[in-house]
Amino acid sequence: MEYKSTRGNIRLTSTKALIEGLADDGGLFIPIKFPKVELNFKELMNKSYNELAFYILKNYFNDFDENTLFNCITKAYDDKFDIKEIAPLVKKDKFYFLELFHGPTLAFKDMALSLFPYLLKEAKLKENIKKEIVILTATSGDTGKAALEAFRDIEGIKIIVFYPSKGVSNIQRLQMTTQEGENTFVFGINGNFDDAQRAVKEIFADVHFNEEIDKRGYVLSSANSINIGRLLPQIVYYFYAYLKLLKMGEISEGEYVNIVVPTGNFGNILAAYYAKKMGLKVNKLICASNTNNVLYDFLRSGVYDIRRNFYTTISPSMDILVSSNLERFLYDACGEDEDIIRALMRDLKEFGCFKLSEKYMDSLKDFYANFADDKETCSEIRWAFLNLRYLIDPHTAVALNVYKKYLKDTDDDTKTIIASTASPYKFVASVYKAITLKEPYGDEFMLADELSKLTKTSIPKQIVELNNKRVLHNKVIDKGEIYDVIKDILKGD
Ligand SMILES: *Cc1c(COP(=O)(O)O)cnc(C)c1O
Repeated sequence: MEYKSTRGNIRLTSTKALIEGLADDGGLFIPIKFPKVELNFKELMNKSYNELAFYILKNYFNDFDENTLFNCITKAYDDKFDIKEIAPLVKKDKFYFLELFHGPTLAFKDMALSLFPYLLKEAKLKENIKKEIVILTATSGDTGKAALEAFRDIEGIKIIVFYPSKGVSNIQRLQMTTQEGENTFVFGINGNFDDAQRAVKEIFADVHFNEEIDKRGYVLSSANSINIGRLLPQIVYYFYAYLKLLKMGEISEGEYVNIVVPTGNFGNILAAYYAKKMGLKVNKLICASNTNNVLYDFLRSGVYDIRRNFYTTISPSMDILVSSNLERFLYDACGEDEDIIRALMRDLKEFGCFKLSEKYMDSLKDFYANFADDKETCSEIRWAFLNLRYLIDPHTAVALNVYKKYLKDTDDDTKTIIASTASPYKFVASVYKAITLKEPYGDEFMLADELSKLTKTSIPKQIVELNNKRVLHNKVIDKGEIYDVIKDILKGD
């Protein structure tokens, strides 16, 4: 399998793509073709998560030898996860929630980031890279912690994370600012996720800067879903959920399903789209946004326009206007034409807006898009608790709300998988308020206790442990200082 850039003719192996993260021309790496997987349901239905992950991912990482890849997978999905199934599918009434938050940091980012460091380490060996890898990561709240935890104290790798200081939940912030590990660096920035992501992408594209740090013995990489090591492992759980539905007797072989994904950077839903391209029977991909509904407008009109207000919502991991992974979808949508992608991305940079040409509009038909504002999100958390006896986080609530809108709009009775992306305890203040209709009081840990008693659910141990941790990273910087901060870290040794 080879990978190429969405913006040019660069071609390379998976190991090189893993290390580089983003292509030199600013494009994103994509597999040059999508392997069709043989869906022998009888055989696949009884595979464990690890076995299925290997079955799917060996198609994408075939320059790893099979034993090595299998070992990486085995180390990734182990008892770091609090449930043996890794990604359980929970049926509540007619809703199927694919719980992706059973990993160490309580959000779906763990699904890929548990594996990614092992892949990167092997890639580094294979490419005989002696330099230290520096992972630069912009986070809207969850990627940061998942990446820090995944890379802490891994030799030959440093990780630097930037999060919007006012745009994450208190638990999310504490998870990052208490991060241990000699090789971890965390900064709040005065700005939003888009500012952080833009700054990081500019650094990747800065040839001069990259040459300079190369001389000092460093090479940059990314743990955002722009990296194939983040994106591709996310394909696995959509197959897993489908097989689970089969096993539960909820669908029959070959039956189509819908998938609802609460969407920010378009990575998780793109993985579902890739699963479909590989042969998974997917009817509609339902793209759920919060008030930052730029994707909703795009998927309906073909116009992507970021000249609008940025809102800080109660689903902060989706507070994004520039969804990086959309570029990968656009590449497909526009007949794999790099010139068109370059033109669209130039328009976005110069004018804050691009328009998909009429002739490609058909390609948007795979998707249904809608959005939920904060009020609707709160009501949905409350509704699910009262009616399904099921506690969901605000991101999952956005997905549930949009799915209900879809049902109203279409009357479609296709079985539907809802990606449940975070533990409700990660957003405890919002969830507490939604359920009790009372203003949250005290600190997050008291609220977690209250919520636990009220809902008879247990507090994840990671949250309990967080209460006793020391803040080790308390710097907040202006977005203009990102460059300097990175230079500073890479200068010293
Ligand atoms: C990252 C995240 C999302 C959005 O996922 P994308 O891949 O960026 O679209 C949704 N929910 C939660 C809880 C997240 O952490």
